[in-house]
Amino acid sequence: MSQALAARWPILAAFLALSDRLRPETVLPRRRARGAARARHGSIALVGAGPGAADLLTLRAIERIRAADAIFYDRLIDPAVLRFARPGARLVHVGKAVGGNLWPQERINAEIVASALAGERVVRLKSGDPGIFGRAGEEIAAADAHGIPVEIVPGLTAASAACASLGRSLTERGAIDRLTLATATCRPGDPAPDFSAMLAPGTTLALYMAMHVLPEVQAGLLAAGATPETPVDIVSNASRADERRLSTTVGGLARDARAAGIGNPAILLVRRAKPAETVSVSADCMTA
Ligand code: SAH
Repeated sequence: MSQALAARWPILAAFLALSDRLRPETVLPRRRARGAARARHGSIALVGAGPGAADLLTLRAIERIRAADAIFYDRLIDPAVLRFARPGARLVHVGKAVGGNLWPQERINAEIVASALAGERVVRLKSGDPGIFGRAGEEIAAADAHGIPVEIVPGLTAASAACASLGRSLTERGAIDRLTLATATCRPGDPAPDFSAMLAPGTTLALYMAMHVLPEVQAGLLAAGATPETPVDIVSNASRADERRLSTTVGGLARDARAAGIGNPAILLVRRAKPAETVSVSADCMTA
């Protein structure tokens, strides 16, 4: 860890120093320890990198990144996160450029499996939580098919980071008792998302991958029973230095986002509270 990083995160620096002392490599000579691991077999860890800010990584994620021989990382991964990789680790950017097809999912599956079979400790680094719109299932299946041990290291998902930036809670006792995480972008050919199944009164709907289909999302939300006044917040680059927030309504969604020029990566938080009279009833129920 560089001195600049250590000055910024002293507790993290202390943790890293301690975990260095406990590493097997500090007991065995470094080369022997790595050789021993390779002789057995490699492994794959699907690691959540959180929403962007490096200090929102978990300590476990940092541990796995530091131990990795190869790190396959996505487009949304902040370069600061990669600074935890050990010197000599192989860093492979598998982010798909818009319209590009260099790293289709099948190629990613094949490469991480090949690295693990060659004895490497592989980290597949994904933004947010790897189990949320991260295609983790396909990578787990590929690892399982080859008998490769696979571990999931959860991360902080964009919805949590965005709501925290807004200074709010994703749920609110009595008014919002349901949180729906949904994507506005399905596989090509799949039917459009059915918002009526996601937006019952009392819901925060966190919509991922929605920015390029805002007019369709807006129409879908209105058809699902939201009113034009239903509040929507858009947070782009949540937790990063270039974070932006826009508070609007379902009625103004597409127009206001375009006018503000707010772009990806961004998440929508639609807040459909319970009607006031139900709020007091359910609040009573909860305190009874
Ligand atoms: N696994 C990720 C989601 C990956 S899908 C997670 O748990 O957060 C990619 C989408 O996530 C983006 O299109 C955007 O909708 C959202 N996203 C990821 N990082 C974000 C960030 N820092 N701020 C806002 N939205 C983000």
